[in-house]
Amino acid sequence: MPEDCIFCRILSGELPSFAVGENERAYAFADISPATRGHSLVIPRVHANDIHDVAPEDLTACALLAKDVAARAVARLHADGVNLLNSAGAAAWQTVFHFHIHVIPRYERDPLRLPWTPVPADQGEIAAAAAQLRG
Ligand code: 5GP
Ligand code: ZN
Repeated sequence: MPEDCIFCRILSGELPSFAVGENERAYAFADISPATRGHSLVIPRVHANDIHDVAPEDLTACALLAKDVAARAVARLHADGVNLLNSAGAAAWQTVFHFHIHVIPRYERDPLRLPWTPVPADQGEIAAAAAQLRG
């Protein structure tokens, strides 16, 4: 575990957190600066920097726990919707380099807005990007 990783320090109990849920490989807790009421983070117990680094079984455990937390946000907080968000790399807004999935309950009149403006793009360029990405 990297000594300076905040989330590893939360997992070890060295730093406090408000638990939301857990399973064998993942832990969910309240975000310290919530975007909306109930904003939670789901992390693997084993340190991984990001989506490129996380072990498949830990990613699976995080996804399943995020699903549970999302369901509880609807059932118990009466969220109208839920966003799951993951950032990989500083260019993608990642600020804590221990893989995490944001579970963000959404409410009809909450202040969050899409960070981009959807506009139609050139079909050839869309196809070219898809061709480069195709597995
Ligand atoms: P990122 O920007 O990497 O996608 O998300 C990092 C998240 O971790 C942010 O939403 C931030 O509020 C949260 N965070 C940062 N430090 C702490 C902390 O010490 N405790 C908790 N509970 N959340 C934190
Ligand atoms: Zn860590």
